[in-house]
Amino acid sequence: MKESVESDRPILVQKYGGSSVGSAERILLIADRIEQNLCETTRLVVVLSAMGKTTDELVSLANEVSDRPTGREMDLLLATGEQVTVSLLGLALQNRGILAISLTALQCGIRTDGVFNEARIKSIDTARIKSELDSGRVVIVTGFQGISEANDVTTLGRGGSDITGAALAAALGAESCEICTDVDGVFSADPSRVSNARQWPKISYEEAIEMASSGAKVLHPRAAEICMEYEVPIHVRSSFHQEQGTWIGGGAIPMERAEVVGVTSDAKVAKITLLNVPDQPGVAARVFDDLARAGVNIRLIIQSASSENRARITFILDLEFLTPVQDLVGHWETEGLMSECVIENDVAKISIVGSRLASTPGLAARMFTVLAGAGINIDCISSSEMKVACVISSDRLDEAVRTVHEEFFPVGERV
Ligand code: ASP
Ligand code: MG
Repeated sequence: MKESVESDRPILVQKYGGSSVGSAERILLIADRIEQNLCETTRLVVVLSAMGKTTDELVSLANEVSDRPTGREMDLLLATGEQVTVSLLGLALQNRGILAISLTALQCGIRTDGVFNEARIKSIDTARIKSELDSGRVVIVTGFQGISEANDVTTLGRGGSDITGAALAAALGAESCEICTDVDGVFSADPSRVSNARQWPKISYEEAIEMASSGAKVLHPRAAEICMEYEVPIHVRSSFHQEQGTWIGGGAIPMERAEVVGVTSDAKVAKITLLNVPDQPGVAARVFDDLARAGVNIRLIIQSASSENRARITFILDLEFLTPVQDLVGHWETEGLMSECVIENDVAKISIVGSRLASTPGLAARMFTVLAGAGINIDCISSSEMKVACVISSDRLDEAVRTVHEEFFPVGERV
């Protein structure tokens, strides 16, 4: 009798990040919150990250025993962090008489490709989760991981628990995917760096994807992509209170909303310049094909016009990919694809993002003007429909973010 009622109720997926489950105390707070949510409405699927800095600590441990810890064993190691949190939350909920079950990716059928460290979810067999929900349990799932066809444990890339939450919400037809975190929502800049950053009630999927991929830490861009594709609304909100956060979804953006929705920054980037590249068809194709095969995410590419049949290719990538790129540079040099490579670590990227950027003249110029006014040199610029990004020296980054934010969101100005 209970079952028919259960299976009518909508499903809510809630994902809690590492800082929200960073201690036993915090896990108990999450258990309180779940207890309150349960009285209300839905069937609940909870996705957890590892405790606090656990994943970083596991990476450091691996670095102590190996020069280059990657691949299968690394994923098996990193995936342990999330097993700790899901089982602890399961115990905490059961301890207060709530029916709950914790499941690993294997137990709940999250299938990925076989690309260790950066796997992509291929399918989710939701039968187990649904039957657990139907028997009245809160289902708690390990974020950030899956199982390959060969039954190896894989991980989805750093910050990947958001992707698990989004993929589960899509596969289960959830009413929404809550990203519960240590900030109150999505802001016009990182609120820990810019004190007057503005919190948005709603932004579009596209804006969320652009902000996340240009450095906003609040959400993994792939999670927003999945929810956009499956039309699942995302609610980014605090883990510690019940106030509304920021909704991410489709539909029109309010007409009066500011053109710029976010000033984002990314300090963990490196700039690579390949000099003396032969100016002939196929060279860029070869370079970026090699980078793609090595799983390297490129953030920005500039090829400048050649002189004397030699070109220069500059690209910006996430710092974590520097080692595989250094290996490739060695190969390219041997094969005569370039004669010199300059690697710069002391650069950072600052971007402005907004869905009205392309249709509003002058926004890029305003960004460049305030940077110039602060004496901050712009090294490279790239722009797209929804974003203008500048590469600058990393030691000026904080100042640049504050200055550019102040230009678009002056202190004291009302929404
Ligand atoms: N624990 C993993 C990480 O730190 C996944 C996540 O937090 O989303 O990257
Ligand atoms: Mg995280």
